[in-house]
Amino acid sequence: MRFGRVVVTGGAGFIGSHLCDYFTEMGAEVLCVDNFSSGRMENLEISLSSGRLRVESVDVSESCDISGPVDAVLHLASPASPADYLSIPVETMRAGSLGTFRALDLARRKGARFLFASTSETYGNPQVHPQHEEYWGNTNPVGPRSVYDESKRFSEALTMAYRRTYGVDTAIIRIFNTFGPRMRQGDGRAIPSFITQALAGEPLTITGDGTQSRSFCYVDDLVSGIVRMLESDLAGPVNLGNPEELTIAEVATLIRELTGSTSPLIFVDRPEDDPDLRCPDISLARRLLGWEPSVSVEAGIKRAVDWFRETGSGAGKSPDQ
Ligand code: NAD
Repeated sequence: MRFGRVVVTGGAGFIGSHLCDYFTEMGAEVLCVDNFSSGRMENLEISLSSGRLRVESVDVSESCDISGPVDAVLHLASPASPADYLSIPVETMRAGSLGTFRALDLARRKGARFLFASTSETYGNPQVHPQHEEYWGNTNPVGPRSVYDESKRFSEALTMAYRRTYGVDTAIIRIFNTFGPRMRQGDGRAIPSFITQALAGEPLTITGDGTQSRSFCYVDDLVSGIVRMLESDLAGPVNLGNPEELTIAEVATLIRELTGSTSPLIFVDRPEDDPDLRCPDISLARRLLGWEPSVSVEAGIKRAVDWFRETGSGAGKSPDQ
């Protein structure tokens, strides 16, 4: 393991906690920096039991000071679900601006490799399909979702500025919709919402007519892609996602089948600026990282359903998808 001491901002969240598990399992010492706005301590049980995880309960937009050497900084701290970032828009922009400054400054001071967790949302409502990394996107800079999309775009620009100006060893990944265990029930994203609704015997709420497409990647595949990117010397951006594209109505129907639910599908209003299409072109990740997902959407959903059943199901909010 090239990275003996790793900082994961947002490490108590869904993706961050799986990264903490990976690095502690590989023998690294991990420092999780999280303000627990959407993260949970229980996500860190496995990492904590290794004895190699330390948790700093702070807001990364206020502080990201770590004593001792640091080999890698993975900056994931940000509200990620539309329900979260629409409820705390200013904090979202602080995390994606001041927080990114602080995480980059830490990497610069320590001479660490820096990885920024960007998003497919930087492509906005795309006019190019599937989305490749050279596409500059089609975002609405003043709509409600802009607090997320634009802070991620700003963070990408800032990451490149630190690379060009200070020679920080940076990497940018653009994560497409990812799912799996530890997503919060009712966090508003499609798969956990549909699963919790189906298990609770409630109607599955589809926004719009359900023909909008998404591509869902299982979290274990994403973690292996992130690790490959970190271990490379690439700057990116590199797309990480599963190119298996489904409409939201197809996802809801699949979840209904896999849970054995008889819940009806109901249709509600679509949120403003909701993208019509979302599918990654992962040619670059295949070619440069030798990476592609290995878990099909169906197999991943089965695993997620098992986890939601084991941990108890509840009613979800309407998905933002
Ligand atoms: P999550 O909400 O589960 O995790 C985010 C974590 O960041 C939480 O633990 C939260 O408490 C923490 N956090 C938020 N603001 C903070 C702050 N100011 N200071 C410290 N900690 C803070 O979401 P996730 O799905 O695990 O997303 C992780 C990262 O990946 C985010 O940056 C998100 O934008 C990005 N991403 C996720 C997806 C996806 O499909 N899950 C897709 C694209 C990009």
